[in-house]
Amino acid sequence: MSDITSGFDFEQWVPAKGYRWCSWKELGVTAVWGGDDRDPVREAAGPGSGGSDRWVLILDVSTEDEWLDRVAVSLAGRPALYREFAELDPTDIEALAKFANANGELGLWHRAYCDPRGAAKKLYGASKDDNDPFTGQTSTSVTCESRDVWAQQVASLRTACEVYDLLASSDPKRVKRHLQWRPTPFVGERASTHLPAEGWYFDTHPDLPSEAEVPGRDARFVNCGSRDSRFDDPVEVAWTWLLGTINERLAKAVSPVLARQDGRTVQRLAPRTLLAALWSQLHGAIMGGKTYTRCASCNRLIEVATNLAKGRTVRAAFCGDACRVTAYRKRKARAVELSEKGMTPKQIADEVGSDADTVKGWIKQSKWGKN
Ligand SMILES: [Zn+2]
Repeated sequence: MSDITSGFDFEQWVPAKGYRWCSWKELGVTAVWGGDDRDPVREAAGPGSGGSDRWVLILDVSTEDEWLDRVAVSLAGRPALYREFAELDPTDIEALAKFANANGELGLWHRAYCDPRGAAKKLYGASKDDNDPFTGQTSTSVTCESRDVWAQQVASLRTACEVYDLLASSDPKRVKRHLQWRPTPFVGERASTHLPAEGWYFDTHPDLPSEAEVPGRDARFVNCGSRDSRFDDPVEVAWTWLLGTINERLAKAVSPVLARQDGRTVQRLAPRTLLAALWSQLHGAIMGGKTYTRCASCNRLIEVATNLAKGRTVRAAFCGDACRVTAYRKRKARAVELSEKGMTPKQIADEVGSDADTVKGWIKQSKWGKN
């Protein structure tokens, strides 16, 4: 394969004090405004909306010293971070804050316009003579990221990962189950129904009846394109949708850069934001034919190259030697325990996933007092 890109890296600053979710109420937010063309936010606090269920992520910093006390976080050596992001529970704001504290903001910055007498004026970087774009009134504004936007981004990357995993499974039947042509027309207003219009849809839960809502997912059906005679194969529909989605995400957010590496000139991707970097990781996973599994000991995500995974006995995979050793010790201890209960080496071997001779060796060792 001609290696057009040799990976990328992304680095940004995270203050030691980190980030914090504030409710609109706490900061006296009257409006959130701005963002790029793709993810603009224009929300005003309406009458009666106390703002207690709307949240913004802000830098938890009030002085320049606190802002300068920071560390550079990098994606180097963490090629599956996009998977961790896609698996976040968007309703768990503590988990989202933890992700931000470890990796920084997504880079979808908005402006929160706040009550000038409220808590916002004490925040570092607050602009004290701004105007609420809806009411025109004097306002204190701060940079923030919106909770709703975070939730949308998690959902969007999650869907892309699910479609990719489906395609990476190389099982056309599974693809067909999730990717269906649905002739259901819109019912009433677009926003008032989750039933899709006619088109190709990726169904996250094909085993449920089509009217069933899925908790924690705002879109069970993701439109993957309308009728087009060129695409009557679900696998091609899914690929076209996935690549189109990634291309759209990378457009204007990632640029090629030239760099010297080991005496040669190479091209890398330079993402402008953490979010673009996460989508670049998915881009890299597709180019590298990567699939994922979980460490059998600590449950961390680990990469598997597709070509290696195929046609081999699936063995327990570990993220590193520490977990491999831990798991080995556990199996050994379990084998000895089962032997003391009177199970035969063969039975034990089946139970712990080993062979009878190995189990006999472990039991012998334990009797000798070695471990
Ligand atoms: Zn592990």
